[in-house]
Amino acid sequence: MKKATLVLFIILLCIPILFACDKKCSHEEMSESQIAPTCDKEGYILRQCEDCGAEFKSDFTPAEGHDLSSSIFSPTCNDEGYTYYSCECGYSFKSDFVAPIAHTLRSELHEPDCVNEGYTLYSCECGYSYKSDFTEPKGHTTVQKTTAPRCEEQGYTTHSCLVCDYSYISDFTEPTGHTFTKKTTYATSFSDGHTLYSCGCGYDYTADIVLSEYIFHGAYLDNAGMRAQGIDVSKWNGTIDWEDIKAAGIDFVIIKVGSVYGIDPSFEENYRGAKAAGLDVGCYIYSYALTVEEALAEAEMMLEWIAGKQFEYPVYFDLEDSSQKSLDSALLTDMCIAFIEKLQSNGYFCGLYTNPNWLTNILEADRLTPYFDIWLARWTLSGEPNWSDSFGAHTGIWQYTDKGTVGAHTCAFDMNISYKDYPRLIKDWGYNGY
Ligand SMILES: [Zn+2]
Ligand SMILES: [Zn+2]
Ligand SMILES: [Zn+2]
Ligand SMILES: [Zn+2]
Ligand SMILES: [Zn+2]
Repeated sequence: MKKATLVLFIILLCIPILFACDKKCSHEEMSESQIAPTCDKEGYILRQCEDCGAEFKSDFTPAEGHDLSSSIFSPTCNDEGYTYYSCECGYSFKSDFVAPIAHTLRSELHEPDCVNEGYTLYSCECGYSYKSDFTEPKGHTTVQKTTAPRCEEQGYTTHSCLVCDYSYISDFTEPTGHTFTKKTTYATSFSDGHTLYSCGCGYDYTADIVLSEYIFHGAYLDNAGMRAQGIDVSKWNGTIDWEDIKAAGIDFVIIKVGSVYGIDPSFEENYRGAKAAGLDVGCYIYSYALTVEEALAEAEMMLEWIAGKQFEYPVYFDLEDSSQKSLDSALLTDMCIAFIEKLQSNGYFCGLYTNPNWLTNILEADRLTPYFDIWLARWTLSGEPNWSDSFGAHTGIWQYTDKGTVGAHTCAFDMNISYKDYPRLIKDWGYNGY
């Protein structure tokens, strides 16, 4: 009740105030201005009371309407065409729309390759494009090439595409390793030996160095009092019963191979028989050489005759023929050296057969005995080599008589004693076919 009373009171209080104001201005002083019409608004006369500010509009003139200019925009592939209308007042609008024109498509065929699909590319000058009509990739056309393994390189198969540069490698195989051929340079009395191992690939290395010194001088340190019994034979001994020789206690035989006049007719048979009976075998050539060249020719002959055989005892150059006695000492010595070195360098343990007279009076012993094994003929029972004399110290075998008898044989034999373990040395060093 109280609230309603208050509202009524406020209303009653306001009414006189409102009427009082309205009644207060009689708009005696009026200003007048003409408002021009615009494109979209009416023009009019505006009168305004200078006292209270009240405005009054009258004498309306119609809006002038827009002064439109138009421009035509052609349609493109992507956008509609239209006409653009605009008035200087800023008013504008678009109308007269025209549908976009179709793309002018050009087609371009892209063939498939090994890994990419083929397709047709359709494109319009406007930039629009798309791909269609896809075809499967062709896949690689591979060929295989196998590279064989080499000594130090793996083998493999290369798969490569004939069309593109795609390739891959597979099927690796291990390197083969080197295949060596051995070439032995034998030690001689004057030069060291070695073996060259070489592979077809070009790789090679040298091993098995054999010092000349060790081979041809070291042997003398090794005799240690050993004595082996031997004979030497040629066709003059006739047919030999080798089992009987062996049974008689003979350990070795030095067999004549031949001379410049030809191979000894018994050589092959003697070699086979002695070997079969278990004797150790050496051999010799009887020299008629008068020059170094002839001595070398005899060496070639000997090499040919003994090729493929194995000898546990040395091969000897037998220099004693009366036709040679008158030759110059230096020449005879050169002949010995040439022959022996030739045999040595072909892998033979080669020595010199001679006697004290030749060593003392005919040959230059100081060029021979320090370097080569001597098979010394000295047919006196008191002639056993004196290890302290100049040639005795280098004597490996002493031939002490030419009138020996052995077993049941009626012929006379040359008898020998060997002071060196030739079979062991020769086998150890790989000479004479071993
Ligand atoms: Zn007024
Ligand atoms: Zn306008
Ligand atoms: Zn287009
Ligand atoms: Zn390919
Ligand atoms: Zn190789």
